Amino acid sequence: AEVEQTNFVRNIIKADLGSGKHSSIVTRFPPEPNGYLHIGHAKSICVNFGLGEEFGGRTYMRLDDTNPEKEEREYVDAILADVRWLGFDWADRLTHASDYFEQFHAYAEQLVREGLAYVDELSAEQMREYRGTLTSPGRDSPFRDRPVEESVSLFRAMTAGEMEDGAAVVRLKIDMASPNMNLRDPTIYRIKRSATHPQTGDKWKVYPMYDFAHSLTDALEGITHSLCTTEFEAHRPLYDWIVANTPGVPCTPRQIEFSRLNLQYCVLSKRKLIQLVREGHVSGWDDPRMPTLVGLRRRGVPPEAIRLFVDRTGVSKALNNIDYSVLEDCVRASLDSKAARVMAVLDPLRVTVTSWPEGEVEMLEGAVHPKRPELGMRQVPFSRSLLIERSDFDEFANKKYFRFKGVGSKVRLRFGYVLELDQIVRGEDGEAVELRCSHVPGTAMGGKMPDGEKVKGIIHWVSEPHAARATVRLYDRLFTTPEPGAGHEDGDFLRDLNPHSLDERLECALEPAAAEYGAGEQVQFERTGYFAVDPDSTPGGLVFNRVVTLRDTWAK
Ligand code: ATP
Ligand code: MG
Ligand code: MG
Repeated sequence: AEVEQTNFVRNIIKADLGSGKHSSIVTRFPPEPNGYLHIGHAKSICVNFGLGEEFGGRTYMRLDDTNPEKEEREYVDAILADVRWLGFDWADRLTHASDYFEQFHAYAEQLVREGLAYVDELSAEQMREYRGTLTSPGRDSPFRDRPVEESVSLFRAMTAGEMEDGAAVVRLKIDMASPNMNLRDPTIYRIKRSATHPQTGDKWKVYPMYDFAHSLTDALEGITHSLCTTEFEAHRPLYDWIVANTPGVPCTPRQIEFSRLNLQYCVLSKRKLIQLVREGHVSGWDDPRMPTLVGLRRRGVPPEAIRLFVDRTGVSKALNNIDYSVLEDCVRASLDSKAARVMAVLDPLRVTVTSWPEGEVEMLEGAVHPKRPELGMRQVPFSRSLLIERSDFDEFANKKYFRFKGVGSKVRLRFGYVLELDQIVRGEDGEAVELRCSHVPGTAMGGKMPDGEKVKGIIHWVSEPHAARATVRLYDRLFTTPEPGAGHEDGDFLRDLNPHSLDERLECALEPAAAEYGAGEQVQFERTGYFAVDPDSTPGGLVFNRVVTLRDTWAK
């Protein structure tokens, strides 16, 4: 049985429901639509939607679009598709932070009227200087104690588009000497006169800052548990201040921080992911090597593997640097029961069965899935001309190598006959180009050798005239080091790109059953790994991606 991983947020929720503090819970997933979601976001999605479901609560899908300049429609569509793909549903609770611009503005004006906020006309540079440092207190702005009416009319002028960008901001009046920099009179509104917002167009000339909008959106939506990552721990006093001091705020959400997911051999920052795409280090956001959800999906990772991964890695405040193999294990665990089996030869070597009549075909059978008889059998044609994996022949191999060695060695074909190697045909360079063999009648489908000999090696193979041809993309980790960039003085993560993260094999040979799967479907190539049909596939040009190898083969 799976160990139930620690999730301290779950315990807080249980306690809050148990004590009657809340009768039901409300959570939200609030991405900023300025990039594609990655596996770190998946953690936040699974935690928020997962806890919502588990406790019969509600979860908002909220697009945090307070910054008018960075958001794009493409990202919004991708985010919604990704959350659905992961298996979650927000019903009618799709919101935008911008839905509340009117309310935010009214709240800000009230704070000004109550003397809890003021319009500051210091320049950005002066403001920085007045702010002080971590080790020295800041100083009050000369505008801090201006009359309330003056601030009110300046905020009106800002809102009416009568002031230039940067000419003034609205700041909360908290404490310029606070050891927490976030409480040194943070800005809550700024002017962006010529920005066009994707939702509200040109209506607004002033826009709320993140902390202000975020805490108030949580309050307006009745969020009970506002989950975020630990970078926001130092923002929590400000979050609480805003909720406590803004007149008329409908409820008091509680911010709880958990540690970000970091996955080794990956980068998970939007800035770095954008750089990989823009500079062409990958083929796009959905390159199967990307840790984005679109990338993982195209690679063939099923959504349940990602949910399992989030479960297994738990929710805590501790640093969360997860070994890549944990993800791979989750992928194997979810594909094992799901993926149909087929045989595929990625690096073909011809085998001629000289004892088999030219033109004669025998239909052998293999289970579609060894543990799921309900999926039935597949037809596996056998003929005189076969292809096997080049690595299943090694003349100089040791005793423990149970494949083709020299003349006289025997192997058993999966579902097929025992073959004995009679002759090695070589090309000009001495490399084997063909193995000539004879078959032992009566040994197909597990039949015993006439003399009772045990043939230990069982190899995969494909009948050459029946083979479906395919391009197979063997993917490996995108980076060669667990923390890309960490080992370099300049921190340049691109220096750790793995030059061998894609090994494309053309003209691989697949048993005919493999051609029946459509884009996105996963199969196991027996002995080789799990593979998924890439959307680049066409009926005459199959393309498969390796999702993961059968075992952990990464050299540490
Ligand atoms: P990035 O730093 O990659 O740009 P972000 O935090 O700016 O990501 P948002 O769109 O603001 O991205 O994130 C939406 C939600 O997803 C936030 O609640 C954020 O805390 C969470 N999230 C983002 N990255 C991770 C991560 N690596 N692990 C866990 N949660 C994450
Ligand atoms: Mg963000
Ligand atoms: Mg960020």
